[in-house]
Amino acid sequence: MPSQTTPDAFGFAFDNSYARDLDGLYVSWQGAKAVDPAIVRLNRALAAELGLDADALDTPEGARVLCGDTAPKGAAPLAMAYAGHQFGGFSPQLGDGRALLLGEVIDRAGQRRDIHLKGSGRTPFSRGGDGKAVLGPILREYLIGEAMHALHIPTTRALAAVRTGEAVLRENGPAPGAVLARVASSHLRVGTFQFFAARGEQDKLQQLLDYAIARHDPDLIGAPDRALLFLNRVIARQAKLIAGWMSVGFIHGVMNTDNMAISGETIDYGPCAFMDAYDPATVFSSIDRQGRYAYGNQPGIAVWNLARLAETLLPFLADDDDTAIAIATEAIGGFAPLYDAAWLRLMRGKLGLTTAEAGDMALAQGFLAVMEGKGVDFTNAFRSLSGVVNVGPTALRAQFTDPDAARDWQNAWQDRLTRDPADPVKRAAAMDAVNPAYIPRNHLVEAALEAAGLGDLTPFDRLLDVLSDPFKARPGLQAYAQPAPESFGNYQTFCGT
Ligand code: AMP
Ligand code: MG
Repeated sequence: MPSQTTPDAFGFAFDNSYARDLDGLYVSWQGAKAVDPAIVRLNRALAAELGLDADALDTPEGARVLCGDTAPKGAAPLAMAYAGHQFGGFSPQLGDGRALLLGEVIDRAGQRRDIHLKGSGRTPFSRGGDGKAVLGPILREYLIGEAMHALHIPTTRALAAVRTGEAVLRENGPAPGAVLARVASSHLRVGTFQFFAARGEQDKLQQLLDYAIARHDPDLIGAPDRALLFLNRVIARQAKLIAGWMSVGFIHGVMNTDNMAISGETIDYGPCAFMDAYDPATVFSSIDRQGRYAYGNQPGIAVWNLARLAETLLPFLADDDDTAIAIATEAIGGFAPLYDAAWLRLMRGKLGLTTAEAGDMALAQGFLAVMEGKGVDFTNAFRSLSGVVNVGPTALRAQFTDPDAARDWQNAWQDRLTRDPADPVKRAAAMDAVNPAYIPRNHLVEAALEAAGLGDLTPFDRLLDVLSDPFKARPGLQAYAQPAPESFGNYQTFCGT
């Protein structure tokens, strides 16, 4: 039963179901005391969505609350326990090593949302880590999460970036300590299920399953075959999510099972980045030496992770192992058709198709094939297609060094358009509403973070503003739609958020 507290001065009215229902999956804990906390950026629109008072939060007292220094009334801060496969290797105990779940609030739409603090100090799960986070990666998660949200891709979101006033030692020397207050529809991960499964605690696992169902799939409450139905729901959400990532060139970079949310939201922005030139082998993360989490591998890795979730649910799928494995295998086999359907639906939109033909999958794949190996910018190539509809063929040709490289494909596509009834003006507008003009370009993200590190948040704010409305091309913003200059070199990202 919800037992919301009355709103405090910040508007927080917590109802902490995780703390109440999931004994054994957390340690109650407090954030570290901050030296001199200050709000760096507050997401006022999100605060309003959550029913919070942005003016009250945008104060020194608000900063103390949002960095974990001071728990607000009704909060039940805790470090969550979870396990996880990291790059294929299993760790039975990871957990929030530098984060806390502050509590849950019910937003204005009636949805339960976690308020979570990343970088709030050491916890019993810190292992060798310092429990801290630094400003650059915190602002990076803020920016990319908001960009994903504006691209209509399910994601956790930043409520605030807070400086702690403390210097934190990182590889390149001291860096400003910071905390990200983030909001998620839950922080249940594949790794959360793996935690109890690895310990053979079946009763607890059942409790977790029922909790997850109540939270994300309440229509399944009490269904006798709810474990399977729930598994299918998670598979469907992930299929849709990964198709969304692929449609905008997003590479998560560290798709460990502890970084895959049951909710279907993108979670844990670490070494993620957007691809410029189309190449399925693209990897940005410095630690992903084998390319396990390369752009083109993401659907396959999702299947692998979901199979790990299915394994944890085997005891609930059937009484004997063989039957349970057969049921789980069939469920996992459901990912590919769901993913293909989601991807094709997105691709039809990107190609300006309003009807379905059997050859559409090959047509979409054909576009990627002509881009591959030619240094063609993925985002701009798709965006140029509305220009072909509106103006003429030069829009796409200009994307290729050899202007004839896409000629055959373009003929096939335009031929297909003649069999699609949409009015050209409406078609072009619909394409522009799904093919972004602006994505978080790596060189721009880096420049914004570098300036922020020197105390100038102007480039960050401008970039955030551009990315908040990614589908509407605006005059004067051409630089935001350009791929990185040659001098930017090969981009590498790091996990050390
Ligand atoms: P991530 O790769 O960010 O998803 O983190 C993987 C695991 O490492 C999680 O259990 C984190 O809590 C933990 N971790 C990452 N950085 C730190 C840190 N600075 N201090 C303590 N734990 C950390
Ligand atoms: Mg993580």
